[in-house]
Amino acid sequence: MPPLTGATCEICGERLPGPRLAETCSVCQEDRPAFSRAAAYGSYDGELRELIHLLKYERIVPAAGVLGGMLARAVGQFEFGPTPVLVIPVPLHRSKRRARGFNQAELIARAALKNLKLSGVEIATGVLERRRDTASQIGLTRPQRAENIRGAFRVAHLNRVAGREVLLVDDVLTTGTTANECARILRKAGAAKVWVATVARTLKQNVANFEIESEFEPAVHAS
Ligand SMILES: [Zn+2]
Repeated sequence: MPPLTGATCEICGERLPGPRLAETCSVCQEDRPAFSRAAAYGSYDGELRELIHLLKYERIVPAAGVLGGMLARAVGQFEFGPTPVLVIPVPLHRSKRRARGFNQAELIARAALKNLKLSGVEIATGVLERRRDTASQIGLTRPQRAENIRGAFRVAHLNRVAGREVLLVDDVLTTGTTANECARILRKAGAAKVWVATVARTLKQNVANFEIESEFEPAVHAS
């Protein structure tokens, strides 16, 4: 499961096409995300995708240890300020969390922190809440996706976020809509900066054959 190589957008981490003309992709140039930077360990396909599915859908919890090591490498690209960073795993809606028994983003974040030497870091799980499960993002345009997810999250403890640098953690970054919405409301709640780290991300070149799975579990595993 190789790490991403080649030139990527210095904001969202998307792969930059062909000869490098800019540091940022056209999407970020047009509409800058609410997060400072997003970094992923690898591309969401092949064995890495299988490993993530093993954790999420087969509930093979030890897979989180391996994924956490990968996440730590993505986080290692960030230059945090002097104040201890607040780590927030992207929350699941409570119905989904109950069904799965855990939040994979939280397990991965905890495993990653064992690999990272960051002083004073704390994982905050109740600070960001998912108020509703969002409908599928498949086939939606960028503005439609933003509209679809608006209001899905809320910051429950504003005082924990104010003035802090936040490290938002998730297993996969697909369209970036979820990360951007979480970052938007965290910034609104006073976060100084939001960094986004994921184990994997979809790359535009793979978009033709990717399904957005972060919102819905495949039917085959639904029982
Ligand atoms: Zn970008």
